[in-house]
This record gives sequence, structure tokens and C-alpha cells, in this order.
Amino acid sequence: EGIWRLSKLNVSVHKDPGKDFLGLSDALLQEIAKVLEFPVASMLPQEAFKVVRKSFDARKLQKEPKFVYSVDMDVQKLINLEPRTWEFISELEPKVGLIEHLPHDRTSGDIMSIVHDCRKLGENATTSERGDTNLCNGSHMYPNYRKPKVAVVGSGPAGLFASLVLAEFGADVTLMERGQAVEKRGRDIGALVVRRILQEESNFCFGEGGAGTWSDGKLVTRIGRNSGSVLAVLETLVHFGAPQKILVDGKPHLGTDKLVPLLQNFRRYLEELGVNIMFGTRVDDLLVKDEHVVGVKVSDSSNNSSHFTSQKLGYDAVVLAVGHSARDTYQMLLSHGVNLVEKDFAVGLRVEHPQELINSIQYSGLANEVLSGRGKVPVADYKVVEYVNAEDIALPSNSGPINRSCYSFCMCPGGQVVLTSTDPSELCINGMSFSRRSSKWANAALVVTVSSKDFGALDLHGPLAGVEFQRMFERKAAAMGGGNFVLPVQTVTDFLDNKLSVTSLPASSYRLGVRAANLHELFPTHITSSLQQSLLKFDKELPGFISSSALLHGVETRTSSPVQISRSADTYECTSLKGLYPIGEGAGYAGGIVSAAVDGMYSGFALAKSLGLFHGSI
Ligand code: FAD
Repeated sequence: EGIWRLSKLNVSVHKDPGKDFLGLSDALLQEIAKVLEFPVASMLPQEAFKVVRKSFDARKLQKEPKFVYSVDMDVQKLINLEPRTWEFISELEPKVGLIEHLPHDRTSGDIMSIVHDCRKLGENATTSERGDTNLCNGSHMYPNYRKPKVAVVGSGPAGLFASLVLAEFGADVTLMERGQAVEKRGRDIGALVVRRILQEESNFCFGEGGAGTWSDGKLVTRIGRNSGSVLAVLETLVHFGAPQKILVDGKPHLGTDKLVPLLQNFRRYLEELGVNIMFGTRVDDLLVKDEHVVGVKVSDSSNNSSHFTSQKLGYDAVVLAVGHSARDTYQMLLSHGVNLVEKDFAVGLRVEHPQELINSIQYSGLANEVLSGRGKVPVADYKVVEYVNAEDIALPSNSGPINRSCYSFCMCPGGQVVLTSTDPSELCINGMSFSRRSSKWANAALVVTVSSKDFGALDLHGPLAGVEFQRMFERKAAAMGGGNFVLPVQTVTDFLDNKLSVTSLPASSYRLGVRAANLHELFPTHITSSLQQSLLKFDKELPGFISSSALLHGVETRTSSPVQISRSADTYECTSLKGLYPIGEGAGYAGGIVSAAVDGMYSGFALAKSLGLFHGSI
């Protein structure tokens, strides 16, 4: 009975229809038959099998590149469709990681259906189980019933998913976003890329969808690809228009062209639920009474200062999902005595290679199957991590040696380097791509971990020392670029030789111009030396990575939040200020689109529970 998952089913790239085919090919059926020890593959009823994961594996040591599948087998369907087949395979034994009997609740729906189920459970529960006759609608807390009012600050993945859950449970939600809706934000980003006009409140970091809207839209996460919460987030994205293949693809990604319409659908749905969405609205302060947040002070961030308007709005709870670039908001939290804890993060440079070079390093003979994203195999990516010998990089100020890891981060195959500054005096960058990943370039951050010892060595102390550290190198990069958002660059080979790139520079995907600079002088020597050492190691793993056609761009500083805002693990409420719910990447609880969305979802459940809108657990 039930569902069996068959994993690690290998199909050679030559026999597979290619990366975009997610059904059951003859070759895959052969593999399934082999695992089931069933003699005639063509007799297996296709309807009883469903591909749940497909990844491309072109690791060097493989004899042959292959697609690796996981397939779910529905035993009931199999018996109904082909009873004789089942007689052959009814002796199926579980094998760890290869054949697994799935518990019934393993498959998960989208968030709307999960909330629906929770509400149904609440309605069906007996009075004694609920302890109150009306717990499901919050009326025990609000005797003359009114919906609890919640402000969600920030419309990135964390804020959107928190708003969705809270609104589904019946809270009166206002979603406040300092940036603009995607339509206007797209025009602001266009003006930045074409006319060098940086709107400080509507840019690559701020605006509808948060920092990940004009991005590669990678949906990979370290929190467990198959966990129910990740699946619920992915299912919800599919509900709002993401392609079904993100549920199956081993390395799902969307690309900006898919993210923008998805966010518009998400917004429409929230509005239908009654969420009041306020774009161009920046939260400047918290209203606090008896050590409890009772509202927010907002200003209209779409106006210039001469039209400055501000107002105070009251709420029962405030969810803070502001991302890691809201430095003014961190400062504001400090003024209320909120406990911000300094956190390690990573800094470095963004390296860009011709995509063809990465394809040939990763796929050798198969490189010509990529066909700018239209081919049989995915556009090649890479992920490298190295630990740097701590003895070589002791800090100058007697701080002692530090273990550091150097790694590639946020790799964008077929993408472009973009400007993620929120202040014109600072330069910082990241990468984005479109769904087909068809540009000529492959870029990735090459970063090294930094901690309080690094900040202290530069005389930066206190909870926002990491922010000051970031700002210091963003300003230095802006000066090295010479202004006007021009990026300082250096070839990888010259960076290793500590010399300026004087001969003609390789082309860059960055649209606002690049200028040769001594990037080896940008960071303190121990950070530069770590980056140099790791480049040498990366080249061993990916021969050809060190190349004069590889261009380093400065500077990559905002890899994750430089602080964490302490909160309760159960209720998600801030430990130093009641009524405040810090979530997502800016609060230090996520790193990436999916993990931020998952944090938003769980915080929504936790807050709905505190507000009496929902009982039980998910
Ligand atoms: P954010 O997405 O940062 O959202 C915070 C929102 O709050 C913003 O919209 C901001 O305008 C708003 N806000 C801030 N302060 C205030 C205030 N005071 N009042 C009102 N509103 C406020 N991650 C991936 O997983 N895959 C990728 O491919 C990927 N690519 C990226 C590419 C780029 C160019 C960038 C910049 C980031 C990328 N990331 C990627 C990282 C990812 O975008 C973030 O991890 C994620 O968006 C964090 O979600 P969040 O909701 O916590 O915060």
C-alpha cells in the first residue's frame, strides 16, 4: 500500500530526452524495471509512476554524464491498472536512499490548502480540545470581535509569505513596502541601468518581491529540499504561476522574467484576501507603549523630501521583514534597545567568466549540447568551497589566526552582474539572470568569511560593526571605480600577481561600465590573501578557472545579514521588545529566497496562533 520512492535512477544523457522533459522516457522505465527486478519494462503502467526529482550529474569522475531521477510509485494505482505486475514486485524491500516507503503525509500542498486544512481541523475540534468555543477566529482575545491588526514591513519573500498565512487565517493585514510595485520598480531599475539614476527607495534591493526579484531566482536551499515546508513554498510559487518543473528540477530556478508576473499574481491574491498593500511606504519608527509595540510611524518614500509626509498607525503586532540592506531600520531598532547581535558573514569579489569556458570546464565534450539554454543539458554552473590555512592569514592586530572558508556564492549561469547599492556613495553588486540563462557570461561571488575579529582590527565595534565594515569597502570600491557606478575590476591572473590589469580588459556583462583597479588593495591583506589562496585551490577543482578572460568585480559585501535580532524560537516574538516579530534574512534567520519564504510562513503560523486565529501545530 501507499507510495514507494525509488531514488538514484540513472539515465545516460544520450538516452534521455533532455533537461526539459520531466515525464517517463523509455530509458527511465527500463531503470525502474531494473530496480523492481521486473522483467518487461513496457508492461509497467506509466500512470502509477511520477517523476519527483530530476538532476543533471556531470561530475568529472563519472564515466558518462547522466540524469539522476527519483520516482514515486503509487501501489494502489499499480494494482488497479496491472494486477499481474504487482504479483512480481510485491516482495519489494526498502533500501536506504534507494527504495523508501513514504509516510502518508509526505506529500504537501500549497500554503492556502495547508491553512484550509488547519482551519477545518479547528472547526471540527471539540470544545474541550479547543478550550473555548471560538478560538478559531480569535474572538477569545477580541471580545467585541474585531480582526487582529497586523503590520508586515517588507514585501520580500519573508514578508509576502507571512502576509499570506496571516491573511488566510483571517488577520487584518497591512503590508508596507518602502519600494515600488514591480511595474514601477522595473522602470526605476531601467533608469538606473540606462541613465545612472539610482532611486534610493526603489532599486535592486528595495521594492515588491524584495532583493530576489531582479535575480537569478535560484530556489535551492540548504534547509532540506524535500522538507514539507520547502515543498509548501514551491507549491505556492507554482500556484502563482511558477512552472511546475520547479517541483522536480534538482536545481530549480526562475529568472527575473518569471518572477515579475508571479509577484503580480501573488499581490492580486493578497488583495483579494483583503490585505492592504502600501508601496512607497517606509517604516521609520516603532510606536512603543509599556514596552510593547503598538504601531509604526511611516513616511511616504515615493515623494522627495519637500513633500515629506508621515503618519502614525496602530497595530496589534508588527512583523519586521526588512531584509539586510535596511541599515536605517537597524539603527532605529537600536534606539529602542532591541537586542541586535553581531553575526559573521562573508565578503569578496564577483568573478565573471565566459559561459562557454564554464561549460567546457564542467562538461568537456558535452559543452556543445548547452545551446544557450535551449539544449539538452542545463547551462553549466559550479559551486566551490575551500578552507584556507589559518596559519597563513593571522590578522595584523594580534588577534590570532582565524579559520576561514572561502566559497563561491549565488552563482548565476548565463547571467549578468548588477548593482545592488542603495546609496550612491557606495558600490555593491550581485548577479541576476533570465529564465533561459542565455547570456554569454557566468558570474559568481567569491567570498571569504569575516567575523568580529576582522571588524575589531579596523576599530569597528558594537552591534552594527559588521554594517560599518560592509560600508567601508563599498565606499572604497566606489572610489576605486571613479564614481558614476563604474565598477573596479581586475583579471583573475593579475589579481593573483598583485598588478593592475593594463592590457585590454575582457568584456563584462555589467552595464554601467568597468575600470581597471588594484582590487588586491581593496581589502585588508589577510582577506586578499585568503581569496588568492582559494582561487588557486578552485583552479585545481575546475581546471581553467584561473584565466585572463576571468574578470573580478568589486565588491560583494551583502552575502547575508551582519546582525541577528534575538527572538523566541516558538513564538517568533522579539526577546527584547514585545509585539515585534523579526523575520527573514534581515533578522538573521534566512539566507536566500526559499529559506526567507519558509521563515515567513512559520512566523505567520506562530503569530496566527498567538493572536488566537489558529490552534495546533503544522
Ligand atoms: P528582502 O527580500 O531583502 O526584502 C525586504 C523588503 O523590505 C525589501 O523589499 C525592502 O524594500 C523592504 N524594506 C526594508 N526596510 C523597510 C522599511 N523600513 N519600511 C518598509 N519596507 C522596508 N537568493 C536566492 O535564494 N536565489 C537567488 O538566485 C538570489 N539572487 C539574488 C540576486 C540579487 C541581485 C540579490 C540582491 C539577492 C539575491 N538573493 C538570491 C538573495 C535573496 O534575494 C534574499 O535572500 C531574500 O530576498 C531575502 O528575503 P527577505 O524577505 O528576508 O528580505
